[in-house]
Amino acid sequence: AKAEGRSGFVTFSPAILNQFDMQLGEEAGIKRALNCDEFFLVWQPQFELATGRMTGAEALVRWRDPAAAAIRLPVSFIPTAERSDLILEIDKVVLSKACLQAARWMPVSADDFVCSVNLSGKSLQNDAYFAHLLLVLQQTGLPPSRLQLEITEGVFIQNSRNALNALAEIRNIGVGLALDDFGSGYSSFGYLADFNLDQLKIDRSFLSGLESSKKKQNIVRGIIALANSLGLTVVAEGVENETQLDFLIAERCHSAQGFFMSQPIEENLLTKHLIARQGR
Ligand code: C2E
Ligand code: CA
Ligand code: CA
Ligand code: CA
Repeated sequence: AKAEGRSGFVTFSPAILNQFDMQLGEEAGIKRALNCDEFFLVWQPQFELATGRMTGAEALVRWRDPAAAAIRLPVSFIPTAERSDLILEIDKVVLSKACLQAARWMPVSADDFVCSVNLSGKSLQNDAYFAHLLLVLQQTGLPPSRLQLEITEGVFIQNSRNALNALAEIRNIGVGLALDDFGSGYSSFGYLADFNLDQLKIDRSFLSGLESSKKKQNIVRGIIALANSLGLTVVAEGVENETQLDFLIAERCHSAQGFFMSQPIEENLLTKHLIARQGR
C-alpha cells in the first residue's frame, strides 16, 4: 500500500490503506466464522429433463454471521477468501459437510443421485484438499460416484500442471467432474480435448433472456450438441421460467436447475422431498 511520490518520499494512499484494512477485517471475520462453525450448506436440486426425476443437488455455502442481520451469500465473502488462503479452509469445511449429508441421503435416494460441490482453483492445486477428499470419503463411506466436484474454466487458463494432475487424480478415484459456468469465461475448446470431464454446466447468462434471443438459443443448442458429441452430460443453470424449461426439454438438454424448479433449500427440506419422491 505504498507509492513512490514525485519527490521520492514514500506516501500512503488513504484509499489503498482502507482497502487493506477492510481485507484484514473481513479475513478476521471469516476466521472467526470457521472457528465458530458459522458456515452451512443449502442445496439446489437438479432435475433430469427426460423423466422429471431429481437426480442430484448442488451444495451452496451460506454464512450465518451474527454480526449481520441476514444470512450472507457467497458473493459477500468468497472473493475475500480467495484473495487469502482462507478459501482452502472454507472449501474443506464445505466438502466435509456435503459428504456427510450426501451419505445421510443414501438410504432415501436412488443410486444415481449425485451431490455436487464447488471448489476454487486454489483448492484444486492444494495437496491438502485432495488428501482431505480421500479422508472424507473414507470417513463418511460415501461412494465416490455419488460426488461431483465443480470447477470453472479458470483452472485451465492458468494452464498449470498441478491443476491438470489434480483433476486426473480426482477422476481416477471415481469422483465426477463438472465444468461450471461453461461459456462465461475465456472459453477454449483445447482443454475439452485434453481433459476428461463428466459434465458441462451451461452458464446462467445464456439462460437469462433466452426466450427473446435467437443467438442465445443457438448458443445453448450448440453447447448441448458439443456436450453430446463429447459424451458429457449437460446441465442448464439458472432456469427461471417455463418457456426456458420447455426449450431445454425440446432441445434434449440432459438436466436443469434454477429458481423455476427450486431455489436452494435447507437440508431438511431436501430430505423431505427425497422421501416423498422415493421410487420415482
Ligand atoms: P455457481 O456455482 O454458479 O452457483 C449457482 C448460483 O446461482 C447460486 O448462487 C444459486 O443460488 C444461483 N441460482 C440458482 N438458480 C438461479 C436462477 O434461476 N436464477 C438466478 N439468477 N440465480 C440462480 P450463490 O449460492 O449465491 O453462489 C454464487 C457462487 O458462489 C457460486 O456460483 C459459486 O461460484 C460460489 N460458491 C458457492 N458455494 C461455494 C463453495 O462452497 N465453495 C466455493 N469455492 N465457491 C462457492
Ligand atoms: Ca453439477
Ligand atoms: Ca457451481
Ligand atoms: Ca455455475
